[in-house]
Amino acid sequence: MPVMMSSTIPRGMEETMSRPLQRGHRTSLGLNSMGRPVFKTAVYQKRRSHRSSEVRDVSLEVVRSLLIFLSRRKLLRKWMETSTLAQRFAARFVAGSSLEQALTVCRELNSEAITVTLDVLGESISSIEEAAAARDAYLRTITAIHENGVQGNVSLKLTQFGIDLSGDVCRANVGQLVERAAALNGFVRVDMESSEYVDRTLGLVCDLHDKYRAVGTVIQAYLYRSKNDIEMLNARGIRVRLCKGAYLEPASAAFPQKAQVDANYIALMQLLLDKGSYPAIATHDEKMIAATKAYAASHKISRDAFEFQMLYGIRRDLQRQLAKEGFRVRVYVPYGRAWYPYYMRRLAERPANVLFILRNMFK
Ligand SMILES: Cc1cc2nc3c(=O)[nH]c(=O)nc-3n(C[C@H](O)[C@H](O)[C@H](O)COP(=O)(O)OP(=O)(O)OC[C@H]3O[C@@H](n4cnc5c(N)ncnc54)[C@H](O)[C@@H]3O)c2cc1C
Repeated sequence: MPVMMSSTIPRGMEETMSRPLQRGHRTSLGLNSMGRPVFKTAVYQKRRSHRSSEVRDVSLEVVRSLLIFLSRRKLLRKWMETSTLAQRFAARFVAGSSLEQALTVCRELNSEAITVTLDVLGESISSIEEAAAARDAYLRTITAIHENGVQGNVSLKLTQFGIDLSGDVCRANVGQLVERAAALNGFVRVDMESSEYVDRTLGLVCDLHDKYRAVGTVIQAYLYRSKNDIEMLNARGIRVRLCKGAYLEPASAAFPQKAQVDANYIALMQLLLDKGSYPAIATHDEKMIAATKAYAASHKISRDAFEFQMLYGIRRDLQRQLAKEGFRVRVYVPYGRAWYPYYMRRLAERPANVLFILRNMFK
């Protein structure tokens, strides 16, 4: 299944598409007992004077919920991952189907003074054998990064290593990867998945950090608990990547409004810049980036003390601009055949992407 290397979307297109998704009404959404996305109309009855924008926002939220819901559908996944047309669209966010293709992308980024973190796509596996295969694919990737002199590390998800099947198996798999990375002067970032995994992820990362050091994790600004988690990780010297959060969470766990998430992101960014261990500020939001630059400048925090991170295929102009300004920039480069859930989350972050794809399908 060759995932095409060239993007079907013109460079910079994401910047010219319609206004960003407003997440202001996430509280009104969720999955019903059948696992289907639902929304409650209470939110858009709240301020009738802004009815049209309210309706549009709620519609965007419905599309977003639907995309996240579809990201978990196995049959659709199977069809998409084997469809040539779907693969063409996935190429916007996925660097290729093979390690070789991904390494080519990494070299190109490195030549622009941008480092990488490689993600071997795959999550929510259903057998111990699949978990072992994922571990072996990551071992090959960590070794290839070292042997090819790529300026980069790896990012992984615990559901790809069997955390839903056996905590011990998952720990042994990921332990092997961190051990190998430590031996090669590398680093493993454990991505954060939905809120049900946070405790297990932090527990595993702390244990492996005690043993090998070469591991860090991710904190999501939309979760209420994140300030406490960052304080704990800072105290242990564990590297944190700060992101907004990409999963559908209930209002009991996560800030329901985009403005609240953004405010928390800035507070957590400051906490990390003050007391963190080489934090990664992962966002494409120019306001978050400007706030980070301003805070670093006013507190005399060196540009080498932190890095910005962005996703492959999103805001390439901003990635290059920051690197040219002398900031450290790392791009998250996913590759592999199991691209469907990752791709659907990227679409959900910006439903305008779906319209763009639909328009192009009929050209
Ligand atoms: C390096 C990296 C690693 C990440 N790791 C995790 C993780 O482990 N766990 C997790 O839950 N989430 C992770 N995320 C995803 C993150 O939580 C957000 O969902 C995602 O980054 C979008 O949020 P934003 O900060 O860019 O801000 P938003 O406010 O969502 O977006 C700001 C602007 O960025 C652009 N943009 C954002 N997303 C897209 C897109 N998909 N397509 C086109 N344009 C877009 C648009 O111009 C938008 O206006 C990661 C993100 C990055 C950059």
